[in-house]
Amino acid sequence: MKYCPECEAEYRDDITTCADCEIPLISSEEFSSIMKQEEQIRESLGSQDFVPIKVAENSFEADRLKATLDEAGIPVLVRLFEDTAYDGIYVAQQGWAHIEVPESEKDKAIKIIEEMDLAFPDVPSAEEDEEEEADEEERSE
Ligand SMILES: [Zn+2]
Repeated sequence: MKYCPECEAEYRDDITTCADCEIPLISSEEFSSIMKQEEQIRESLGSQDFVPIKVAENSFEADRLKATLDEAGIPVLVRLFEDTAYDGIYVAQQGWAHIEVPESEKDKAIKIIEEMDLAFPDVPSAEEDEEEEADEEERSE
């Protein structure tokens, strides 16, 4: 059995492309691992308190942090200050957004960010930019 990652339709093994979505089908193993991952993220989003671990100064930094934590399997919320600030004055003082993760992932996430800062001190990694942008488009719905 093969599956479409987009519409979740089932297909015979000899079919390689979803007729509706026109994208490549994936194996049942891949499909179930994706489903499991999404379920875990949904569960952790629903049952846990998110805590801010870092202030991003701009959208670029927020994207970079989110992509790195996503890769490590940690659910991330980017909470813009303009959404939460009571008063415009504080927006300029505090940066652009809070990066929030579930409380249980906090220590792990902070460690990952520290390591990331050491590996890429303020320099964007050129080779990964295209990939991250493509991921970003798929996620935004
Ligand atoms: Zn489909």
